[in-house]
Amino acid sequence: MQVQTRIEISDAEWEVMRVVWSLGAATSHDMITALREKMNWKDATVKTLIGRLVKKGALTTEKKGRAFIYHPTIEEQAAIDDATTSLFHHLCRMRQGQAVSNLIDDLTLTQGDIERLQAQLAKKLETAPVGVTCDCLPADFEMQCD
Ligand SMILES: [Zn+2]
Repeated sequence: MQVQTRIEISDAEWEVMRVVWSLGAATSHDMITALREKMNWKDATVKTLIGRLVKKGALTTEKKGRAFIYHPTIEEQAAIDDATTSLFHHLCRMRQGQAVSNLIDDLTLTQGDIERLQAQLAKKLETAPVGVTCDCLPADFEMQCD
């Protein structure tokens, strides 16, 4: 099934998707076992989340013998990019740089990640504006964040 519109995934549903993405395909038993161990969730909770993800079109089912195999319909990287892009679009343009900086402080990055970021930033710097304006209010309000 091809999903055209962006699928909103809740925090709990993300945990289910991470199991499926890691395994490539999973039975409900796989997901229940993994999330019982990792999150201490009840079987019924995981079953409910699986049902929601199927309804949203994030998972498809395939019957193999007596078991249902679940497959993700969205790529992990695409889902991650959608979620982060959507989050950053909620932020004032003036706050985005600081938010990225705080995030970098908070994350465990590999040397490879850091080298890639450094190269990206050096390239960005060549065309970066000196400042950006707030986009929280329409221009005719003549007010902005500081
Ligand atoms: Zn603003």
